[in-house]
Amino acid sequence: MMYNINKDVVRLKGLYIHIPFCESICHYCDFIKSIPKNMDVIDEYLLALKKEILTYEHHFDSIDTIYIGGGTPSMLNLNQLVFLFEVLKDIHPKEYTIEVNPESYSVEKGLLFKKYGVDRISLGVQTFNSSLLKYLNRKHTNQQVYEVVNSLKEIGIEKINVDIIYGIPGQTLDDLKDDLHQIRALDIKHVSCYSLILEEKTYFYHLYKQNKFHTIDQDIEALMYGTVIDELKKQGFEHYEISNFAKNNKYSIHNLIYWTLDEYIGVGLGSHGFIERFRTHNHHILSKYLKSPQNEKIFQDKETLLQDELIFGLRKIKGVSLTKLKEKYDLDIFVHYPQIKEKIDIGLLKIEGDRLMLTEKGLFLGNQVFMIFI
Ligand code: SF4
Repeated sequence: MMYNINKDVVRLKGLYIHIPFCESICHYCDFIKSIPKNMDVIDEYLLALKKEILTYEHHFDSIDTIYIGGGTPSMLNLNQLVFLFEVLKDIHPKEYTIEVNPESYSVEKGLLFKKYGVDRISLGVQTFNSSLLKYLNRKHTNQQVYEVVNSLKEIGIEKINVDIIYGIPGQTLDDLKDDLHQIRALDIKHVSCYSLILEEKTYFYHLYKQNKFHTIDQDIEALMYGTVIDELKKQGFEHYEISNFAKNNKYSIHNLIYWTLDEYIGVGLGSHGFIERFRTHNHHILSKYLKSPQNEKIFQDKETLLQDELIFGLRKIKGVSLTKLKEKYDLDIFVHYPQIKEKIDIGLLKIEGDRLMLTEKGLFLGNQVFMIFI
């Protein structure tokens, strides 16, 4: 499917499904996840998930993307994957993604993905440097990454994303360049590249409190981000969102739904959704989720929608359409947010044609822009 990245009119709908289980816990991770005591815990969760998914059955015909994320969805065994895919089999999305960790992939799972229409894999790689992988507490090897990518291509799943992290303490610019060269060797169509963020309730934060973890210098982080952009562009990737790069228009349609403020249903532990102008928030404690998934549902007034539209929309390199914003919200955003003009004057935002977007400098300092909308 071709996707117009500038589109502000065609509405899409996504379905996000959260699998909150991992085989081990990465030292930087603050996602909602845990190591299950046994497979029965997962089975019980999947039953509750099925029940929740079926409450949205009346939306099935209009769902354009499915994204199964986690956690580590690929750690489900074959029976559990079949169970989940069967629940979803009456949905016929334009894009169907599942997150995979290299160590829990098998050819049998790949064949199952193909059989049930999964056409996009997001692979958690983070780095190709074995000592940094160990430092992050990741459990796979480089060789496994190549094996998974080759296997998926053989099976006929060509849309592969690889997640990369930069700014890891101890990582050098050469280490990062090596990671980016390995991306070239993998010959994939999509890369998501995020800087390591120190989050509370992580092992790294625990180390930080003991003065045993030091974040990297901000100038080095900016240099690394610049290197990522330059190198991936050289490889033919289009930089289409602050942290995302695609070749041949193979954007993540599901993620574009978030950045374009389209609707999505979020199911599973701790998931969020945005449907019929309500933000939905599920319980993030398993025992509560199993009893009743949804915790709250909040109506979004016009002001909140506009804030989100700008914060998410400006993450896209091509920014937001000023005409569409005016039509949709019936106001002049330069009057509503006078600080936009200031950010243009200091070179963080720019206008090109009908679109407001971050400048190259603004890409590094996006938060300084986004805070004017909060
Ligand atoms: S980063 Fe992914 S694999 Fe690692 S603990 Fe978090 S959810 Fe699990």
